[in-house]
Amino acid sequence: MKVDASTCMRCGACASVCPLNLIEVSDAQVKVGDKCTDCGACAKACPVGAIEIERKI
Ligand code: SF4
Ligand code: SF4
Repeated sequence: MKVDASTCMRCGACASVCPLNLIEVSDAQVKVGDKCTDCGACAKACPVGAIEIERKI
């Protein structure tokens, strides 16, 4: 997944739904661990649509 940093408001909703707990939200940025499966859970949870999923299938 990719986060559009200009849209993201660092609310943390994505971090709380990631099944693999890979998302770290700080004041400056949203960081994603490299084991992301592009499952889409974070994108669905994001209230401003800042997350883009790049499916690997
Ligand atoms: S796409 Fe799924 S695995 Fe990847 S960061 Fe979002 S919730 Fe986590
Ligand atoms: S849910 Fe969306 S707006 Fe909130 S921290 Fe994650 S990417 Fe940013």
